[in-house]
Amino acid sequence: MSKFISDRFRSNSPYVPGEQPKDTAYVKLNTNESPFPPSAFAMKLAREAVGNCELYPDPEYTSLVSVAAEKFNVKEENLLFTNGSDEALNYVFAAYCSEGGTAVFADITYGFYEVFANLYGAEKKIIPLREDFSLNAKDYASACGTVIIANPNAPTGKVLSPEEVLDIVKSNKNNVVVVDEAYIDFGGQSVLPYIDDFDNLIVVRTFSKSRSLAGARVGFAAANESLINDLKAVKYSTNPYNLSRMSAAAAIGALLDEDYFNGNCKKIISNREYMTEKLRGAGFTVLDSSANFVFAKYNGVKGKDLYEALKKKGVLVRHFEKPRISDFIRITVGSMEDTVALVKAATEAVKEI
Ligand code: PMP
Repeated sequence: MSKFISDRFRSNSPYVPGEQPKDTAYVKLNTNESPFPPSAFAMKLAREAVGNCELYPDPEYTSLVSVAAEKFNVKEENLLFTNGSDEALNYVFAAYCSEGGTAVFADITYGFYEVFANLYGAEKKIIPLREDFSLNAKDYASACGTVIIANPNAPTGKVLSPEEVLDIVKSNKNNVVVVDEAYIDFGGQSVLPYIDDFDNLIVVRTFSKSRSLAGARVGFAAANESLINDLKAVKYSTNPYNLSRMSAAAAIGALLDEDYFNGNCKKIISNREYMTEKLRGAGFTVLDSSANFVFAKYNGVKGKDLYEALKKKGVLVRHFEKPRISDFIRITVGSMEDTVALVKAATEAVKEI
């Protein structure tokens, strides 16, 4: 870093993304991407959009918003599209947690919440999950700031019922409650249909997982119009053309290709159940997951050692050297071929360590 950088960035520990290896062809199960390519229709629309690249995109993304509003049965004013859901989360922290705000989130959850909270100088109220990594909705009643929950949670894969989520929303009339539903298409029930019922609920979604568009960077926030206008204030103060023409076009295609989307979600869920069963059969402890990854450990083996042994065998998974979860590895659910390779490598690795 140079001597010129502002203190805010000098002192902040940034988010550390999972490895994106450029050398060996790994079985890549470390960043929760889809093992399936984007919908062919999505790619066709993206290719067509390349032709107009001399022009800025429509900053309102009117066509995408209109398709999404119909798909999710909400009004167009209820949606704001972003460059991946990380950008929606960035907007949320900028809007509600900067300058003396407080962010309330779990001790074990998506690591970017803490990074954004630190970046915007928010107070952090970190609430430990229960011993079994479940989240107690009652711990969030009348919280002292903006509540951010991932549902299903990452990296545990555990899910809350919509009733539990809505209890948190109802018991926080004076706080914004942000529900990050990055993995909701793989299990659990969304609270998106309830955005009109509450003036403090924001649902954040991504196209990176179930819609195979991690590389296109598409996400969105859904909420009542006033909250969306808050987030628009951040967008139009930072990056009005936040999605490329190609990404917006691909997102339309991905939304319209419903059969492809449903088929892929089904396959992932079925592969997840297979992986869970096989790993348990091989002696692993595997949490029940409602996401496109599983969180697993093997008694007596450190998570880091397991991660390294799997890497040597050509399988990349994610390990977090953090209190409470350092024994675990997070494994993305891939294709059936990937899953079989993972189960074989993991079964061998624990015998060799
Ligand atoms: N929320 C959660 C819980 C995640 O795991 C991720 C993926 N790392 C994101 C949001 C961000 O995903 P994206 O920016 O690709 O939409």
